[in-house]
Amino acid sequence: MRVLVHIDEAETWREALAQRLPDAEIVTSSDDSGTPVDYLAVWKPPESLLENHPHLKGIVNLGAGVDALLNNPGLPRDVPIVKLRDAGMGPLMADYVRYGVLHFQRDFDRYRIQQTDAQWRERPLTDKADWPVGILGLGAIGAHVACTLADDGFPVHGWSRSPKALDGVTCHHGDDGLASLLGAVNTLVTLLPDTPSTRHIINADTLAQLPAGASLVNPGRGTLVDEAALLEALGDGPEEGRLRGALLDAFPEEPLPANSPLWSHPRVLITPHMAAPTPVRDAADQVAELIRAMENGDPVETIDPQAGY
Ligand code: NDP
Repeated sequence: MRVLVHIDEAETWREALAQRLPDAEIVTSSDDSGTPVDYLAVWKPPESLLENHPHLKGIVNLGAGVDALLNNPGLPRDVPIVKLRDAGMGPLMADYVRYGVLHFQRDFDRYRIQQTDAQWRERPLTDKADWPVGILGLGAIGAHVACTLADDGFPVHGWSRSPKALDGVTCHHGDDGLASLLGAVNTLVTLLPDTPSTRHIINADTLAQLPAGASLVNPGRGTLVDEAALLEALGDGPEEGRLRGALLDAFPEEPLPANSPLWSHPRVLITPHMAAPTPVRDAADQVAELIRAMENGDPVETIDPQAGY
């Protein structure tokens, strides 16, 4: 069995997979001679790499979001695609989201602005129990984040396409479910994939359904947010608008262009798509398991190209 790896730090991945799949030949895309391979383990492969390998038993996407792979014109049809599910990203994402929620619940955003005027003024504390958080997307990572915040003591509402039951989380689904979640939360967290039905799901209409003074944390995908509507809801000065502030990790164009008004907005925090990098050790265990299962003909959870995730 031959597996071709394409990702930054491909050599680290090659070694990790070679340890876990001792009977397989693992090569990186820099050694790709065009010799046929059975599996690709890839993150954002170039079109030519996919075109060179049309006959595959499977493709493993080395991340949770499959949008870049599905939008690649070189993607062969009818090849099963599997993706990483949590694989150690859940706890990293939970830390990122917890930081964002605490930023607003404990008024760090307001203290940061007070500091610019040397203003020493303690603000009244809002208890966690009075700070409902909404999580859009209850997948492998989203569900982990929702349960972590519920364990922390926040009332948590979650939203998915199909009905779900998660301990300590009020679960919603469908359009009505989205409306009831939006009306109930102080911080909205977007952990949805980028698909035709999630693009610009955060728009003027959905932002208007949030309570005044709500905040947004988006580590999901940049395409989820209509940037013009976000800026409008934030208002353009240091005074809080309808939307109090935002912590953003993902953008439609990355790196975020230097002339984006988001960079200098006083109530926006920007991070460079660092919320939950794939931890190689945990992920390599999962990749090896997936390849072994596909090789043995065991059932694996493949992505649905129609749904886009
Ligand atoms: P999954 O694919 O496991 O889950 C996706 C979730 O979104 C599911 O609950 C699904 O519902 C829900 N969903 C999809 N479409 C809709 C829709 N139209 N309406 C309502 N719900 C919908 O994803 P993960 O939890 O693993 O990851 C979530 C996203 O986080 C990734 O797609 C990726 O974009 C992002 N990410 C960002 C990282 C970063 O560093 N910034 C790192 C890792 C991931 P259902 O359960 O019913 O199918």
